Amino acid sequence: MAVLPIRIMGDPVLHSPASPVAEVTDEIRTLVADMFETMDAAPGVGLAAPQVGVGLRIYTYTYQDDDGAPWRGVIINPELWMTPPVPGDPDEDDESEGCLSFPGERFPLRRSDRVIVTGTDLEGEAVRIQVDGWRARIMQHEFDHLDGILYVDRLGDNDWKTAQKIAKKRGWNRPGASWMPGVDDLDA
Ligand code: ZN
Repeated sequence: MAVLPIRIMGDPVLHSPASPVAEVTDEIRTLVADMFETMDAAPGVGLAAPQVGVGLRIYTYTYQDDDGAPWRGVIINPELWMTPPVPGDPDEDDESEGCLSFPGERFPLRRSDRVIVTGTDLEGEAVRIQVDGWRARIMQHEFDHLDGILYVDRLGDNDWKTAQKIAKKRGWNRPGASWMPGVDDLDA
């Protein structure tokens, strides 16, 4: 297993729709093991294959409930259904999210409160995830990555402009930009 470099906004793989996984091969199993290790090292609550430069419809997730119950897994070729988001502006404190491909920043974004995700696991078994709250947010965020959408693409005008300025200042928004968990300190 290995920690993989994480692509940063501007790399084409993050901005193109990913392809379905045709078959779970040993290569895919290794990729998923590396994605778990990379997600934990980052650390993050989710990681999509395009974020490590692989344009396939796979993401991993990990989260703990308020009561500390672990929730962790991988989903291949997911489909997502969601309830319509409640109209209105997102709350800065309760609805801000971040992204390992736009590291070190958080912006508020209104998401749907409840989702159902279906797909398969590494054994080809059907997976059905029905979650709400923060876990529903993670599902929507990671699913977006598979369609080439970053959460910054969904921000309101002012935050979107701020994000573009940050990207420019840091030399992002170009092909090939990446960072390495455990090596690069991006909060500095
Ligand atoms: Zn992300």
